Order: sequence, then C-alpha cells, then structure tokens
Amino acid sequence: MRPGADFTLASGPTTISPRALAALAHPVVSHYDPDFVDLYRRAEADLARLFCTGHDVLMMAGEAVLGLEAAVAGLARPGGHGLAVVSGMYGAFLADELRAHGMTVDEVRADFNDAVDVDRVEEALERHPDIELLTVVHCESASGTVNDAEQIGQVARRHDVTVIVDAVASLGGMPLRPDEWGLDICVAGPQKCLGGPVGLALVSVSPRAWARMEANPAAPRNSYLSLLDHRDKWIRNGRFTCAPPVSDVYAAAAVFEEVLEEGLEARYERHARAAAACRAGITGLGLELWASSEDVAAPAVTAATLPDRVTPAEVVAHVRQQYGVMLSDGAGVGNFVRIGHMGETSRSMYPVLGVVALGQALLDLNVDVDVGAGAAAATAALAGPRRRGGPR
Ligand SMILES: *Cc1c(COP(=O)(O)O)cnc(C)c1O
Repeated sequence: MRPGADFTLASGPTTISPRALAALAHPVVSHYDPDFVDLYRRAEADLARLFCTGHDVLMMAGEAVLGLEAAVAGLARPGGHGLAVVSGMYGAFLADELRAHGMTVDEVRADFNDAVDVDRVEEALERHPDIELLTVVHCESASGTVNDAEQIGQVARRHDVTVIVDAVASLGGMPLRPDEWGLDICVAGPQKCLGGPVGLALVSVSPRAWARMEANPAAPRNSYLSLLDHRDKWIRNGRFTCAPPVSDVYAAAAVFEEVLEEGLEARYERHARAAAACRAGITGLGLELWASSEDVAAPAVTAATLPDRVTPAEVVAHVRQQYGVMLSDGAGVGNFVRIGHMGETSRSMYPVLGVVALGQALLDLNVDVDVGAGAAAATAALAGPRRRGGPR
C-alpha cells in the first residue's frame, strides 16, 4: 500500500513541488562545502526577493513556529506592553507567547471568521501609548481568513510599535511587503504557498527589530532561539550557529527559484483564482463559506461550514478513506472543513477535485449537496474566455 493520500489538499504541509522533491534527493554534503555555502547564500538572496525586502533574511532549522517563538523571544520583555491582533487560532497563539514572556497583553479581537478592524488597532495604540510590540497573523490558515497586514503595519509604524507578522500561509500566495508596510519581523515556512517541505523557518528582520533586540536584555543569547546569535555568527561572520538541515535547504532553494521564475504576481493571481474557484464550488454544493465575506477569505485555504449533524473529523476521515484526498478539519475553531489551495494545489483542477471530494463525501454521509453544481461552479471559475467562432 502506498502511504499517504493520493492528493494532499490540506491547509499545509501541502503537496510538494516535483522540483523540491527531486532536490530532497541531493546527497547530503557538509554545510561548509563551498558548493553548499554558495547555494545557501543564493537561497537567502532569493528569499529576500520573495519577501520583497532589502533587509536581512534568515533560515532557521525548524518548523515556522520556531521562527515565531524566536521573534517573540527577541522582542518581548517582562513588564513590557504588547498588543495582539487576534482573529484566529494562530493569533491567539501569539498572544499567549507574549504573555509567556511576561508581557502585559491587550488584544484586539475579531470573530474567527472575520478580519480585525484596523481602526480598533489604532484606537488601542492611542489608548496605550506604552505599547511597544504588536503581533498579527496575515493569513489565518486555521480558519481561512486574512488580516490587512499593510494597514496594521502602517498604523503601528505611526506609533513606533515593532510588528511581528505570522506570514506562514501568505508568503508566495498573496502580496507581502515588509519594508513598505512597516513589518519588522515576518515569519514564513516553505510548506505552504511555496510548495516546499516542512522544516525551515523563513524570517525577515528589519534594522529596527535588530536594534530593539539588541537593546532588550531579555533577548536570548547562546540559544537555538536566538536571532541575534544567528546574525552575529552567520550573517556577520559566515559561521553557522548549527548545521542547517542540508536536504531541506536544497529543497527550499529549489522552490524559491521556481517561484521567482514563475513571478510573484503570477503566483498571487493563481492562488486568488484557485480560492475563487473553491469558494464558487462550495457555494455551488449548497454549503456556506465559513468566512464572513469574500473580502476576508484567504487565497491559501478555504473553509466550508458544515451542517450540524456532521463533524469535521468524520468528514475529513471519510474524504481521506474513500477518495484518497486529504483535507483539513476545523482546527477546533468551528464546524467547518478546509480545502487548501496553496503551492502546487493552487494549479490546474485541484480546487475542483477538493470540492468534488468534499461534496461526494457529504452525500455519502447523508448531507444533501449538489455535487454537479459544485463541480460546475468551481470549474467555470477556472475557465478561460470562451472561443469565438469555429465549429460548434
Ligand atoms: C502553518 C502555519 C503555522 C505553522 O504551524 P503548524 O501548526 O506547525 O503548521 C503558523 N502560522 C500559520 C498562519 C500557518 O499557516
């Protein structure tokens, strides 16, 4: 039996690109092999282009959560005042991280099917001029919504507040401009919209973030979590803090190249189109979108609300068992399932496949949906313009 689903349309890790898969088979060389060092430097330069940043970028050995924890550890301090923008599970995680580092935390919240109102962020910063650090999730993949990281970044910049952005599910899938938007640290991973493997935290760091970390006595040193160590050893002196996961770096380098060859704009457009197709398909089935409006729906993943008599767990299990397609459940947030359309799975007919597999599974579970209408609506959203003339 072949292990794993035939189609991984989960909300990440997503289906890996063939080029990245081939790169994983590269021999494991010493991390100081000059060829590897060259490749690593090239990958960093490509990563900076993906992040649209002129600032430092780094790759840490560990899942993206490592990067998020490192960012908070470097910038949070006991007794400091933080503002967490919370519109989903990952936003709540960052709020807890700030508290775990001894910060006093205010939260600006939205329902977990919605985006946070930027005016309320501004009000909070005006009410508490001592707020020094803000956390926000750009694409809340746990429930398929997006926050306006651009506006939030600009508000924070006006108040001289350092911003940490969880961009794990947005990098490569939707516009992200840390330098222009005032986002001090952005954290991503290769396994979402880039279509790479899990195992690296991709981080961009602004000069202001470095300065504030340096001035923060609580920022870790001599630690796996230390961004400052990484800067001092690797960026400044060409010595790795530890052996990087060589195979993951080969694969990440391959997807960075692949994405840049395609072009960021083309890639954003593809994710937007796949998301629109998925939304049309879900509505066509007769289900409701979980997102409160199309405006806040994510390009990377779409959540479909389920009727009360079925649970996300049973639906996801049935789709997987019967149809070989891996979707994601509601992450404990609500009664919905998620269809990912990131990286490879934002191509081609993948969104249609996700809609049809979900629809047929629901029919099997005695939920009345119109699979044909879902398929037709999703497919029509992917269709090009009709050809004129020619034989009928
Ligand atoms: C995938 C993802 C992460 C990483 O979390 P995992 O639970 O380890 O997958 C963090 N934030 C966001 C927004 C993500 O999409």
